[in-house]
Amino acid sequence: MTESTLTITSQSQLADAVFRESGQNVNLCYQCRKCAAGCPVSYAMDYRPAQLIHAIRLGADDLVLNSKTPWLCASCETCTTRCPQEVDVAKVMDAVKIIAVREGVKPPIPEVASFYRAALANIKKCGRMYELGMIVGLKLRTFDFFKDAGLGMKMFRKGKLKMIPSLTGARTTWKIFRRVKRFERKNQTT
Ligand code: SF4
Ligand code: SF4
Repeated sequence: MTESTLTITSQSQLADAVFRESGQNVNLCYQCRKCAAGCPVSYAMDYRPAQLIHAIRLGADDLVLNSKTPWLCASCETCTTRCPQEVDVAKVMDAVKIIAVREGVKPPIPEVASFYRAALANIKKCGRMYELGMIVGLKLRTFDFFKDAGLGMKMFRKGKLKMIPSLTGARTTWKIFRRVKRFERKNQTT
């Protein structure tokens, strides 16, 4: 019996874009659905992880980029651990979000996008997560000032929310942000 080799190639530009962004080849997926079976939030997703991977392979850009699935993904990496084909599904979810934002697609769950932006801005400023600052940043983005106010007060009373941020180790984070900025600029000009 001669040994045959299977070359898996992509016909989907979206799959190519995901590969460039994440290094993940979704064409390796053979739809065993182990990722979906283990996903703790798949019940709330519009397309389960395996379905989203398949849609990327098919080049169903509109469906994938407008799907709630990547925005609900909790990055727990259960799917990544379970995949027999070593597809890092969690990375694929991140890649889809990055591509969607770059393409100007309105996030289907704006609160999650606002949370990411508020958290990133906060870490960029303080060098680490400063919870109170992050909450203020999120409220200013969502204009939902009273949601979870009771919970916030409880946390504040228990000393879980600090009034002043700690800047310990912030220099290292700032350096990382500067380096990423330089890298992005370099990539834009080449
Ligand atoms: S990383 Fe995301 S898609 Fe994967 S199992 Fe966790 S929540 Fe589900
Ligand atoms: S676990 Fe891997 S091979 Fe199986 S459906 Fe999910 S991505 Fe595809």
